[in-house]
Amino acid sequence: MTIKDYKFAGKKAIVRVDFNVPLDENGKITDDTRIRGALPTLKKVLDEGGALIIMSHMGKPKGKVNPKMSLSQIKEAVAEKLGTPVTFVDDCMKADAQAAALKPGEVILLENLRFYPEEEGKPVGIEKTDPAYEEAKKAMKASQKDFAKHLASYADCYINDAFGTAHRKHASTAVIADYFDADNKMLGLLMEKEVEAVDNVLSNIKRPFVAIMGGSKVSSKIGIIENLLGKVDKLILCGGMTYTFMKAHGGEIGNSIVELDKLDVALGVEELAKKNGVELVLGEDSVVADAFSNDANTQVCPSNAIPAGWEGLDAGPVTRQKFADAIKGAKTILWNGPAGVFEFDNFTAGSKAVADAIAQATSEGAFSLIGGGDSVACINKFGLADQVSYISTGGGALLEAIEGKELPGIAAIRK
Ligand code: AMP
Repeated sequence: MTIKDYKFAGKKAIVRVDFNVPLDENGKITDDTRIRGALPTLKKVLDEGGALIIMSHMGKPKGKVNPKMSLSQIKEAVAEKLGTPVTFVDDCMKADAQAAALKPGEVILLENLRFYPEEEGKPVGIEKTDPAYEEAKKAMKASQKDFAKHLASYADCYINDAFGTAHRKHASTAVIADYFDADNKMLGLLMEKEVEAVDNVLSNIKRPFVAIMGGSKVSSKIGIIENLLGKVDKLILCGGMTYTFMKAHGGEIGNSIVELDKLDVALGVEELAKKNGVELVLGEDSVVADAFSNDANTQVCPSNAIPAGWEGLDAGPVTRQKFADAIKGAKTILWNGPAGVFEFDNFTAGSKAVADAIAQATSEGAFSLIGGGDSVACINKFGLADQVSYISTGGGALLEAIEGKELPGIAAIRK
């Protein structure tokens, strides 16, 4: 079923959204992108005379109740954005009465699903090495089904609009779909848009295709980097991973972030790029600091000749120009991961240069897809959100989709 064809009048829809929004120490939302992302789906159900049971996770409470990760903190924001009151149920397994009494136009928000270990389906309090682990896992899988079935019992139909967790086979993202027939389960509007954006980058590629991968580590992105080397024309590698490449060639990197056990991986990436005819673009100079702090002293030096006691926190001016030149003229662009420690205002120049070049290329006709929490935060920080083609709400899910993996959250709806 598709959300466009479903008749919501008089129906109760249980919707998995990604309301895992960042909160400050007072529980105030610092970035509501994810809530705004889910609104079209939620409003569609209400506008057509349906009722909503909204469910999400927040953070990693590891199967235990943790008030710091309670969704009660965002209830008012959701109500305000939906323009209607929201009833909060402080235990997602105890919403039977409220769900039964739900009338068209009414909304229930369930407490954080991950307060129950069944949501993720991982046994708690037992190590993988324990001989009893396999038994515990089996038992947990069985109770995960019961958990999902109970959630399903609240509603007539199921909508998955949580792209951020679509790569997880959790109770609310995948298992629950087994308890609805094909006519009563569907992807939400956000999820449909995400799938289309990935499709644009995977099957509808206009060349040149330039990918920019940044962030702190090579290790967490090696899968996607290797995969992209089979697709892109140019790959810019920036941010903290730069220094693993510099070190791999015997460079001096001072105190810069490095993965010493991944030097061979870096060399392997270079070799694969050469083999595939992909232009690999690495930084040449860095803004280095004498401490990991916004107020540290700084200087610019070659990325492979960083003095002892200094660390590379941002791309230098030559590198920024090099990145901008590499992005210029691109027709398909994927950006994941900042080009420096952009959280510090004094080290945003590299990420800003990347963001500006992407916005420019987009204005000249490129399709640009920005994904992963940090690059999205960058784009928002620089006020360029409306100058790129698509901002994905998914980090890991986006990368797995682009790697070509089937996402369980999508497969469960389509099977
Ligand atoms: P990731 O989670 O791997 O995408 O990494 C994102 C993080 O990488 C951000 O918090 C950045 O501050 C960090 N980062 C980017 N460049 C550097 C750098 N040169 N040194 C240390 N951290 C960095």
